Amino acid sequence: MEIERIIQDQRDFFKTQQTKNIKFRKMYLEKMKDLIIKHEDLLYEAIYKDFGKSKFDTFTTEISFILNDIDYYLKNLQSLSKPKKVSTNLVNQLGSSKVYAEPLGCILVIGAWNYPYQLSLSPIIAAIAAGNCCILKPSEIAENTMKAMSKIINENFPSEYLYVYEGGIDETTELLKLKFDKIFFTGSTKVGKIVYKAAAEHLTPVVLELGGKSPVIVTKNANLDVAAKRIVWGKFLNAGQTCVAPDYLLIEEAVQEQFLEMLRKYILEFKYDADSEQYTKIINQRNFQRLASLIDKDKIYFGGNLNEEKRYIEPTILNTIDWNDEIMQEEIFGPILPVISFKNYNIALNTVLEQEKPLAAYLFTNNNEEKEQFTKKLSFGGGCINDTVMHLSNDNLPFGGVGSSGIGNYHGKYGFDAFSHQKAILEKLTWGEPSIKYPPYSEKKLSW
Ligand code: NAD
Repeated sequence: MEIERIIQDQRDFFKTQQTKNIKFRKMYLEKMKDLIIKHEDLLYEAIYKDFGKSKFDTFTTEISFILNDIDYYLKNLQSLSKPKKVSTNLVNQLGSSKVYAEPLGCILVIGAWNYPYQLSLSPIIAAIAAGNCCILKPSEIAENTMKAMSKIINENFPSEYLYVYEGGIDETTELLKLKFDKIFFTGSTKVGKIVYKAAAEHLTPVVLELGGKSPVIVTKNANLDVAAKRIVWGKFLNAGQTCVAPDYLLIEEAVQEQFLEMLRKYILEFKYDADSEQYTKIINQRNFQRLASLIDKDKIYFGGNLNEEKRYIEPTILNTIDWNDEIMQEEIFGPILPVISFKNYNIALNTVLEQEKPLAAYLFTNNNEEKEQFTKKLSFGGGCINDTVMHLSNDNLPFGGVGSSGIGNYHGKYGFDAFSHQKAILEKLTWGEPSIKYPPYSEKKLSW
């Protein structure tokens, strides 16, 4: 198989030690940056063909994100890769201790389709920064973006260093039989389990960036207008096809009516209509049908209009939802917001606690006690207080799930660490030996 030869070439290339050179890594990070800028139009065209994502959204949520990642590593690579001196304990005197960040070798990155550039290239950039060789398998579901990345990378990078392997489930299944030094997977929890099992065969470590049902909680102590604006933006960005989008809304009963009106106001103001170039379409017919079947007509508060030909689903709010409704059984991953009301904040937190740990959680309130309860009580990958989605744009914060929403994290320093082994080295002087260490041992030595 051609891909087996490429992986072997990457192993051989890694052994030449060239990727460990900081100048070498920076040169290829610069090259990646130049290629993205040079081919920006191709990248915009491809994603528009795949699911009608606008140039503006693609720039803000994909291209600028990747360029920012590259700049972060260009700026911080020297300090990230510098050996870190740590203190040395008494029994190891006279000595010094250091931790060396060492690249792992050959990495496999498996991407998802919903932010096809960011979710494929952001881990690749971190892996390159950390000094690895990489195979990228983007999602075949966003076919045009997969082809665009493969063209740009395979025509410009040596395959023994970085290679894009196009393929779907069959190709990925074959790929997963091979040995890698780390697998970085973004996608569903279901496929995450398949990847984890395959990795276990070779004892390959993994990062699994998965999904889940991420709640947004709004209490009567929130700035309701700001909350409505930020929830509408975070939920309907990319037509809800965002792993950290608020999946469902828990709203305090006392402000429910007023708040739903505000959500309606912002949806209308943001002009998410079928002909809008700004509003992303659903990725394919299968997902369109799945989402359409989740809209319970009796519970529509706002929206519900569909256009199958355009794969358009209007931002939709479903009210008076309860936990038994079909929409509450799985991650929605589309522009439908179910609303559940609560009377008691603590009970609301407890209902979230009963679910699988989500990738994200959001709280809108100006009450410090409520903020503290949210932060201390709930377990979730990451999130925001008084905003949605934006935590992932701060590269000083780790990004990843917990429990069934994932294993490991990345972004910034955390991305560098995800693709490095922390090698511990104790260096001793050749004098100043404590005689107690060596046999023969005696009672006298023991009582020392
Ligand atoms: P998916 O799991 O269907 O596919 C992801 C990747 O796995 C693709 O590259 C695909 O080719 C491959 N794949 C699919 N089925 C496979 C199989 N049987 N064996 C081996 N490989 C297989 O996910 P998706 O539909 O692309 O993305 C949606 C999911 O991803 C949602 O659950 C979402 O929450 C999650 N997600 C998570 C993050 C994150 O950063 N945590 C980001 C985006 C999406």
